[in-house]
Amino acid sequence: KKTIESVDPDLWQAIKGEIQRQEDHIELIASENYASPAVLQAQGSVLTNKYAEGYPGKRYYGGCMYVDKVEQLAIDRLKALFNAEYVNVQPHSGSQANAAVYLSALKPGDTLLGMSLAHGGHLTHGASVNLSGKIFNSVTYGLVPETEEINYQEVERLAHEHRPKMIVAGASSYARIINWKHFRKIADEVGAYLFVDMAHYAGLIAAGFYPNPVGIADFVTSTTHKTLRGPRGGVIMAKQEYEKSLNSAVFPQIQGGPLMHVIAAKAVAFKEAATKEFRDYQEQVIENARVMAKVLQSRGLRIVSGQTDCHMFLVDLRAKNLTGKEAEAALETAHITVNKNAIPNDPQKPFVTSGIRIGTPAITTRGFKEIEAEQLANLVADVLDSPNDATVLDRVAQEAKMLCAKYPVYVN
Ligand code: PLP
Repeated sequence: KKTIESVDPDLWQAIKGEIQRQEDHIELIASENYASPAVLQAQGSVLTNKYAEGYPGKRYYGGCMYVDKVEQLAIDRLKALFNAEYVNVQPHSGSQANAAVYLSALKPGDTLLGMSLAHGGHLTHGASVNLSGKIFNSVTYGLVPETEEINYQEVERLAHEHRPKMIVAGASSYARIINWKHFRKIADEVGAYLFVDMAHYAGLIAAGFYPNPVGIADFVTSTTHKTLRGPRGGVIMAKQEYEKSLNSAVFPQIQGGPLMHVIAAKAVAFKEAATKEFRDYQEQVIENARVMAKVLQSRGLRIVSGQTDCHMFLVDLRAKNLTGKEAEAALETAHITVNKNAIPNDPQKPFVTSGIRIGTPAITTRGFKEIEAEQLANLVADVLDSPNDATVLDRVAQEAKMLCAKYPVYVN
C-alpha cells in the first residue's frame, strides 16, 4: 500500500505536525472536538469515491445500493436522537444547512430577525458580510446589558415592528439556556417561521442536558463536529411538511453530490451519541466548564453573564488589561489553544477583541475531569496574569504537556 508518507512526504510533514499539535496542546476552542477512531475510519473510507446525487432510493447514479444503506442509517439514527419527523444529512457544513433552510422558506428581500454577531450570534444569522445579511433584510437582537442574557423583550419588540418572515435562535458564544418556547411564542405572535441553529449545543441536547428545540421550531440545523463529536458537516431537522422544499433546497439548489464518506461518519457519530457513555461525557463537559468558570472568577476574571449552563463561556479580559488577541497568542505559546472572541459591546475591533471563548468538549473527550479542569483554569489564569513572562509561559507549557501526555487523544 502506498501511504501518504511515501506518496507525498511534504504533505505528510504537515499532517504529522497537526497530529502532534492535537496530542500535545490543550484544546479549549468551544467549537472543536476529537472525533472517534471509528468516525475517522468512516470518513477515510472508499465511500469518498461514490457519486450519489439525489436521496436514498431516488438517485441520479447507478451503483448506489450500499450508499443508500449508509444514508438511511444516518437518517434513522438522527431522527431517533432528536425525535425529528424529517431530517436531511447531506449539508456539507453548518453554513450550507442554514443556507438551505433560508432558500427553502424565504425569498430575497424578506426580513430575517436573528441574534447579532457582536452579541454571540453566528455569521449565517444575518451578518452583513454573510449571504444571509446580503440577500435578506436582516434585523438583529442582542443581550440585556445588565444580565448579558438574551433580550426577549427586544426580540418581541423588533418582531412586532419589522414583521420578519423568519426568526433565528441559536448562537456561537452564548453560555446560557436559550428559551426556545419563548422564541416560538414570539414567532407565533407575528406569523414568522422559527428557525433554531443548535450547532453548539447539539451534543448536550442529544444527551438531555439542554432543551431540545426539535418539535418547537419549524426548522432546526446543526453542525456535526462540535459537541456532537462527529465529522465536519451539517444536518437539518424539520416538521414533515417541509420535506420537499428542504430536500430540493439542499440538492439541487445549493449542493451537488453528497459526501457519502462524511455521511457514513455522521451515522457512526449518531450511534455513539445514543450511548450512556456519551451521556456521561456530556455531563462531564458541563461540569468541567462550570469548574473552569468558577476558578477563573476566583482569579479575578469576569465571566460574561456570570456563569455557564453549557460547554462554554466568554471571559472578559479587561481586568487584566489584555486584549483577546494578546491572550490567544500568550496561551498558544503555553500549549493552550483558545480563540479570541468579542464580548458584548466590545470596545475593541473584531480582530482584536476584549475576550476569549473557552469550551470544554475537547478536553473532556481526552479524559479531563474536575481536578484537571481546575488545574487547567489555574494555568490559564497564570498566563493571563503574566502574558509576557517567558518563565511563566514555559512552566505552563511544561504542565500542559504533562497533562496531555497523561490523557492522550488517539495513542493509547
Ligand atoms: N451555526 C453556528 C451556531 C456555528 O457556531 C457555526 C460554526 O461556527 C456554524 C453554524 C457554521 O458551521 P460551519 O463552520 O460548519 O459552516
